[in-house]
Amino acid sequence: CGIVGYIGHRDAYPIIIKGLQRLEYRGYDSAGIALYDGNAINLSKTKGKVEDLKKKSEEQISTKGSLGIGHTRWATHGVPNDVNSHPHYSNSGDLVIIHNGIIENYESIKKELIIRGYTFHSDTDTEVLVNLIEEVKKKEDVKLGKAVQLALNEVVGAYAIAVFDKQKPDEIVVAKLGSPLAIGVGENEFFIASDASPFIEFTNNAIYLADEEMAVIRLGKEIKLRKIKDDAIT
Ligand code: GLU
Repeated sequence: CGIVGYIGHRDAYPIIIKGLQRLEYRGYDSAGIALYDGNAINLSKTKGKVEDLKKKSEEQISTKGSLGIGHTRWATHGVPNDVNSHPHYSNSGDLVIIHNGIIENYESIKKELIIRGYTFHSDTDTEVLVNLIEEVKKKEDVKLGKAVQLALNEVVGAYAIAVFDKQKPDEIVVAKLGSPLAIGVGENEFFIASDASPFIEFTNNAIYLADEEMAVIRLGKEIKLRKIKDDAIT
């Protein structure tokens, strides 16, 4: 399983597809991608190989855009199928997430969210996490980075995540506990991946997150790693 993301000035699609292929050695049962084309999110996902995802994406969606996230899944909650594959949307359709790992207390969080009116389309723990982030963001009226931090403080488990908001398409929020996550820093562009192999041809500048670290990756800003348990993020 692996994650790849890109934000910058190049086409994200080929970088993400090639990156996912380089992470294939990690093993997976499904793959998916979400791209922001300047207006909407285009999402494609499938059970099977990255090659299958490539075919499906090129047939069914616009592969334009310089912001995107891609995922290879090793199913832990919910069988391997198209619906359970990542990325997952939040209920509003604004947030989109990829996740490697396990949210152990997802059932109790899911129950709470259902009481608050949320609906779920997949059987994954990941779809619970993206809706928890959305709920916290609305309830606390905070930015995405803060919402991710607050949500992760309610979560028990392991993760490498990348999430973005189509209402604020100049940033991607990432966090890590247990699963690997690296950020490649280029010239006004950033790469995200489970290891450096997806971005090694573009930059030598790699930042590896430690456990319980997160970052708001924003175009035009320096990367500052934050502790998920700290209060500093606004
Ligand atoms: N727990 C998540 C799922 O089953 C992520 C699995 C993974 O690490 O790929 O969808």
